[in-house]
Amino acid sequence: MAKVRRREIKTLSKEDDLAHKILKDIKASSGLGLLRCVQCGMCASTCPASRHSDYDSREIIKRVLDNDETILEDEIIWNCFYCYNCHSICPVGNSVCEVNQILRQMAIDEDTGKKQVESFMSFADSYIDKGLGIIPQEYHGQLSIDYGEHWDKLQEKLEDVRENLKLESMFLLPEAENEVGKTLEAIGFKNRVKEIKDVRNRNKGG
Ligand code: SF4
Ligand code: SF4
Repeated sequence: MAKVRRREIKTLSKEDDLAHKILKDIKASSGLGLLRCVQCGMCASTCPASRHSDYDSREIIKRVLDNDETILEDEIIWNCFYCYNCHSICPVGNSVCEVNQILRQMAIDEDTGKKQVESFMSFADSYIDKGLGIIPQEYHGQLSIDYGEHWDKLQEKLEDVRENLKLESMFLLPEAENEVGKTLEAIGFKNRVKEIKDVRNRNKGG
């Protein structure tokens, strides 16, 4: 059972409350029916995450509408896996999926969310090093267990297989790699990765 620290719900103007912050977020689709939620529970009835965990999509929306900001610290927001069932079934055009994406981004702006995404940092390192989302070396051991000998052999012979198929290198040309690097710098990606790693290192040190 997820532990949630409840705190008194603040009285805010509509412009400042959690629901309105979500509606104003760039990731919210126009006409998102968040404020029209009637708590019918249809989203929860079709949600695989609700079926297999403490996560409750209807409850997520209720807490947002109650302006309960403790939801940003609650690990249940990380149980949604973006299947969009809730989005397709909601009778008032709301999308728990979109709301969740925005809640997660808000949480990532705080330390709690950074901890949740730190396990993906090796993918971020691949983008920074190679400009590509290749499978990081540290996952190879588990993939070898999951997929077995066939997968191991394919990794060993990958270059030969690609050569036989007359495929070019799967890595970017140096100019392209350089361009991707500059783009990642310009959009703040590298900085965000550093912030997430700093939280991890602080936690290890503490
Ligand atoms: S299906 Fe839509 S209206 Fe019904 S509880 Fe879920 S979000 Fe609210
Ligand atoms: S997108 Fe998330 S909240 Fe919506 S149905 Fe799928 S798992 Fe549930």
